[in-house]
Amino acid sequence: RAKAKSRGSICVFEPEMDRQIRDRRVLHRDLSNAMRNGELSLHYQPQARTGRKLVDDDVIGFEALTRWSHPTRGFVPPGDFIPLAEESGLIVAMGEWILREACREAASWPSPKQIAVNLSPVQFIHGDLVGLVHSILLETGLNPSRLELEITEGVLIEDFERSLALLRRLKALGVRIAMDDFGSGYSSLSYFQAFPFDKIKIDRGFVMYLGRNPQSAAIVRAVIGLGHGLDVSIVAEGVETQEQLGFLADEGCDAVQGFFIGKPEPIAHYATLVGRPPRIPEAIRRKAG
Ligand code: C2E
Ligand code: MG
Ligand code: MG
Ligand code: MG
Repeated sequence: RAKAKSRGSICVFEPEMDRQIRDRRVLHRDLSNAMRNGELSLHYQPQARTGRKLVDDDVIGFEALTRWSHPTRGFVPPGDFIPLAEESGLIVAMGEWILREACREAASWPSPKQIAVNLSPVQFIHGDLVGLVHSILLETGLNPSRLELEITEGVLIEDFERSLALLRRLKALGVRIAMDDFGSGYSSLSYFQAFPFDKIKIDRGFVMYLGRNPQSAAIVRAVIGLGHGLDVSIVAEGVETQEQLGFLADEGCDAVQGFFIGKPEPIAHYATLVGRPPRIPEAIRRKAG
């Protein structure tokens, strides 16, 4: 009787699960066409040197964030399609496109700002990541010191020794390595003993509660102290208010990123920050004023 009952209850959920699986399959298929159809694009979010008041000159670089504009579903956020691309292995080809596009774009800026690109742990396991970065640098002519590769602790959890060896070879190319989302997962201090990161990005989850939660303030302060001790640059992610910026400036956080400084936008939005002439509407406004 128990068996019949459980079978019955499974039946109730089957159509829903079926639909979800079919949905994922369709999205998988669409995703494999997305690159070919030019549906992927990059948005760029500024990072600035910390100060209570920020000016254009404080912007030190941009993080490239991938966007998928689906023909019928509209905008699909990276949190939804990056995991899919990782499951299917598509992230390897997609990651190559993203890296090339970001480097090509940054190499074309009159102002030599930094460009940060996110890497998936899957890119460390499959394909020749070091060879790829090397050839894209040669191909685009981007100075390696301008490229920053963002990794999460997931990279180190998968296969610590192998990932470490890859990170050392990447660093030998002259690129910078940043630890993204620090403190959000199973981040371990032993990573910093094993590998000289150039940058630590404090996860948005801590920055979000600054001013509301004394624990968050203590954690952010401690990570900034850690960075200073290790001679690693600290960036706070997800800065949304003047109060958060003020706290980070007082605590000596090196750089900030977040909606308060600038949202991820197509590069045309930040034309003047990368040293290009202002967009026409802006020029007209200036003439008129
Ligand atoms: P991430 O690398 O930690 O990127 C920061 C995310 O926080 C971005 O979300 C950005 O839009 C968002 N963000 C920045 N400032 C603020 C803020 O002040 N408030 C709030 N609420 N959010 C803020 P996005 O673009 O949706 O990307 C989410 C994640 O997807 C990224 O987190 C990254 O892990 C992944 N991702 C995005 N593009 C790529 C890519 O090209 N390759 C790989 N492997 N992963 C990517
Ligand atoms: Mg990132
Ligand atoms: Mg992050
Ligand atoms: Mg994040």
